[in-house]
Amino acid sequence: MATLERRELGNTGFKLSCLGFGASPLGNVFGDVSPADALASVRLALRYGINFFDTSPYYGDTVSETVLGNCLHELNVPREEIVVSTKCGRYIDGFDFSAERVTRSIDESLARLKLDYVDILHCHDIEFGSLDQIVNETIPALQKIRETGKARFIGITGLPLEIFTYVLDRTPPGSVDVILSYCHYSINDSALIDLLPYLKSKGVGVISASPLAMGLLTDYGPPEWHPASLELKDACRDAAAHCKEKGKNISKVALQYSLMNKEIATILVGMNSPKQVEENVTAALGLSSLGIDQELLHEVETILEPVKNQTWPSGIQ
Ligand code: NAD
Repeated sequence: MATLERRELGNTGFKLSCLGFGASPLGNVFGDVSPADALASVRLALRYGINFFDTSPYYGDTVSETVLGNCLHELNVPREEIVVSTKCGRYIDGFDFSAERVTRSIDESLARLKLDYVDILHCHDIEFGSLDQIVNETIPALQKIRETGKARFIGITGLPLEIFTYVLDRTPPGSVDVILSYCHYSINDSALIDLLPYLKSKGVGVISASPLAMGLLTDYGPPEWHPASLELKDACRDAAAHCKEKGKNISKVALQYSLMNKEIATILVGMNSPKQVEENVTAALGLSSLGIDQELLHEVETILEPVKNQTWPSGIQ
């Protein structure tokens, strides 16, 4: 069986499958997922060599962590064979990046995940907090957690790309091991590319999430809560319709586009069914063996050109 390519994540020593399993759908945030479907999805992902799983206490108000923990436990996965990340600071009832809250948070997450440690603990969506608090209080608290062994590495996540330089420019080298960016390396928005040389110079590993732009680049479209403008939603819908007319699938070409940049260690896709796992792994393997459908990519890029790199406001800065 062909296996997924693995790529190094900064200086962590991890070799992540180029396709990572985003577990937010397991918190039912894109529609209900049965425990059986969740288990079958995780089992199939592991069988195909996906070794990276990402969750957060925020996803489905802790449901995603609990469901992922149950699946990994039930499948008896050898701990050293997987890389698990979770987050802290963002909860269903709001944000709290205080040292006290994040220190409590990791214990709560480990209990739900049924794990002794996570591989990466991210500060979740830091643009909603004071970035100076992140630098002066949260990251030092996470470093203490790292010293206890409850988390092996530290990450920061969020939408606006400036947050990463703000924090990395103000923290000593090695304080932040990885960043998780989302919705900035897809066909419609590839703004992350400009930040890659900087991140490399800092020795920071790069995880990029949401290659399907949180549902914009799918046949059935985004969930109701999706924050994109109507203009962007319409353009993506037109691009999806165009692919469908040609008997092709927008999600496949979108995922392949994101996977092409090898400076990015892994592309996190939210998956909620074995069918989606199968399709995404097939797309990743197809990219390695056959390459991307250049003609289709060009056509989709042309449709999305008027909205290229259009994003939406996020945070309080
Ligand atoms: P995504 O772009 O991966 O889209 C997910 C949606 O697409 C879901 O509805 C999923 O069921 C569907 N999907 C997956 N494969 C498909 C296929 N082959 N065909 C059609 N539809 C398909 O967005 P996402 O789930 O938001 O992002 C991926 C993961 O990245 C998340 O689960 C989460 O773990 C992480 N993430 C983190 C942050 C953050 O830290 N701030 C933000 C966004 C995402």
